[in-house]
Amino acid sequence: MQLDIPTLLVIATANLFIVSIALLTMVGSQASAATRCAQLGVVALVLGGVASIAAGYAWAPVLAPLAVALFGLCQWLLHRALGSWLGHRSRPDKYRKRPIRRSPQDWLDYRWCARCLLVLLVAAPLGYVLGFASPDFQLGWSHLCLAAMLLLVARATLFPLRHVGRAWRWWLCACLVGTAGLMLVRAVVGIWGSEAAQQSINLTMAVTLNLGTIVSVVALLAAWRDEAKARLHNLAMTDGLTGLLNRRGWMERAEGMFANAQRYQQPLTLMMLDLDHFKRINDTHGHEVGDKALKLFARLLRESRRTGDLVGRLGGEEFCIVLANTHRSASIGFDQRLRAMLQEVGEKELGFHMNFSAGVAVLRDGDGTLAGLLARADTALYSAKHEGRGRMVQSDGGLGQTVI
Ligand code: GH3
Ligand code: MG
Ligand code: MG
Repeated sequence: MQLDIPTLLVIATANLFIVSIALLTMVGSQASAATRCAQLGVVALVLGGVASIAAGYAWAPVLAPLAVALFGLCQWLLHRALGSWLGHRSRPDKYRKRPIRRSPQDWLDYRWCARCLLVLLVAAPLGYVLGFASPDFQLGWSHLCLAAMLLLVARATLFPLRHVGRAWRWWLCACLVGTAGLMLVRAVVGIWGSEAAQQSINLTMAVTLNLGTIVSVVALLAAWRDEAKARLHNLAMTDGLTGLLNRRGWMERAEGMFANAQRYQQPLTLMMLDLDHFKRINDTHGHEVGDKALKLFARLLRESRRTGDLVGRLGGEEFCIVLANTHRSASIGFDQRLRAMLQEVGEKELGFHMNFSAGVAVLRDGDGTLAGLLARADTALYSAKHEGRGRMVQSDGGLGQTVI
């Protein structure tokens, strides 16, 4: 078989076609929006390859610009996928007054790159159509636009906001930058170079595209694997019914807060909450209403906490919250706020009144572990139950207990 440029182009497109089918079957129907974007990007690349092969035989004025548009669309989709994977497209925290600024990325941030890509996505095929009388202009224009797009996408692999993809980011970046460089060289050689130089750069380009495609797709698969891993981790840490952290997730995060509070001598308050006579609610109104009550309580907990407080469902009808940077007195305010909300909303949404008991423990100098603090809060909760429920009891560290 003779490995001329059209043959290599057909091989690259066939490669991509097989890979796009493999990607579809491997990822399945449960893919995230980012993975879908990457998959569509590969499909756009395949279609672009087909259009550019077909343009060699017929309808060149239509198919060649179409190929340029599809190659551009692929870059735009890949940029969107990278934005989600690496954190650039996550919703900004509404409580943060000022976005985080990292100096190297200030001059051209993700959103600006996305805008530039959109402009290039339209400009590349448009310029190609308008300059149809001059093949040199078409070659230079389309290659310049596509190289710029590749560099903008490569830019998205740098400075991630999420710490993922240490390996695949660099592979993808190298492929994108390498291809962009070659495109620029090809445009220059194509316009001003000799016949032999054009032949060799075309061959180099075709071979590089084949290799680059394979490496890029492997990088995309690695990105998808990272995403699936993160999703699994999230699932393992989240309570399915309420959406709060489950015991494992809550403990993992609370351990970190506990260690920080100890290291920097900051106050920390832990509160355990248990719904009163919940079994009776289940027995009287049914399990489904019980579930609804649990979801409502979780929602109210979320709404009444401050940013930085950590809420979790430890199991059954038992919840826990770490009030960060907070002294004993703040837990009283939290408890009262939650009770008032539960009284108002509970009656309205459930049709009956629901109450809870709470036990509070405050971090002391001698506390060695989170488990010790939890045990004290649990003892205080037990006292609250014992003393008649519907109240909060603060553990005074062995010196007695205060009923609020
Ligand atoms: P106390 O005031 O002493 O806390 O009494 P209680 O009835 O709330 O406590 P108990 O431990 O006797 O019962 C807890 C009930 O919570 C029993 C269990 O069926 C119910 N429960 C646990 N998990 C769920 C759940 O996910 N959904 C529903 N609907 N009920 C649950
Ligand atoms: Mg209970
Ligand atoms: Mg209980």
